[in-house]
Amino acid sequence: MIRALFADKPAHWEAYQTPLQRAFAAAGLDVDLVVEADPATVDYVIYAPASGLQDFTPFTRLKAVLSLWAGVETIQSNTTIRVPLARMVDSGLAEGMRDYVTGHILRAHLGMDIYTQDGVWRNDVIPPLARNRTVGFLGLGELGSVCANAAVGLGFNTLGWSRRAKDLPGVTCFHGEAGLKALLSQADILVLLLPNTPATENLLNADRLAILPRGAVIINPGRGVLIDDAALLAALETGQIGGAVLDVFRQEPLPADHPYWAHPNVIVTPHIASETRPETASEVIAENIRRCEAGESLLYLVDRAAGY
Ligand code: NAP
Repeated sequence: MIRALFADKPAHWEAYQTPLQRAFAAAGLDVDLVVEADPATVDYVIYAPASGLQDFTPFTRLKAVLSLWAGVETIQSNTTIRVPLARMVDSGLAEGMRDYVTGHILRAHLGMDIYTQDGVWRNDVIPPLARNRTVGFLGLGELGSVCANAAVGLGFNTLGWSRRAKDLPGVTCFHGEAGLKALLSQADILVLLLPNTPATENLLNADRLAILPRGAVIINPGRGVLIDDAALLAALETGQIGGAVLDVFRQEPLPADHPYWAHPNVIVTPHIASETRPETASEVIAENIRRCEAGESLLYLVDRAAGY
């Protein structure tokens, strides 16, 4: 019998218990799924840091840690995890992110916030067609590529940037520093879907914000550290940046007195862009346990040298 410890907030147990058991049965796995156990008896930890579990040293027979989160910056740096670490890649999570990102792209594209219900007939600005608007994606991974594909489907001129060279249908792909500048110089709407790593911290600084077309809109459901907040606030003041939709922050919850809350051109959403969905995520967890038991390599392993 395989023993798997579900280590997440107790409130999530109810949502995951049945989908996990169903997924294990469908994968032909006999799993003793528990929320408490002697660590020395556990084969797999299904993990979110919100559980409070930090020290994996007592888990002496552990085979893998299976993260319920897509962003693993706080997990991959845990030196007590000495077994393979897989992050969450979940079709439900990607669908939710696609909806959030396309919703906010269209909101910016159509200038929806201009039409205050105040009796003023504002018919002097007609939004351009999507094909005349450029959307740039920083990060073309599991989430960025799904969102970029949706932007292509809506007809936007779509650009993307990643660490390694990529080829995505309909997307003009860039990499490297010169590629970043080329993308920024064209992006009317910029979407950040990069992970939090030492290489991405403060990536969007004052110099790079200045490269964007004047009035560009930034949508950040990636991580708060990607943006130099003081530089963004300054660029919003001068009009260099026309608006920002921010879902993630250096400090969460975003403190009530943070200038982002009161800024007329900023929309704050409380880290809700997308959530791991228990039904689809459970299938990914079960498939990884099946693979590990069969001696196959795990899906979505974290590259701990790259930090994501
Ligand atoms: P992923 O599959 O690992 O993709 C990350 C992308 O970023 C890849 O394209 C990668 O390039 C690129 N990248 C990483 N470091 C880079 C660097 N130094 N320079 C240029 N590109 C770099 O991650 P994902 O699943 O798409 O998730 C992206 C992020 O979304 C997560 O890390 C998490 O922070 C965030 N997230 C937020 C929410 C929310 O609700 N707000 C929910 C889920 C996830 P390569 O393709 O070359 O590897």
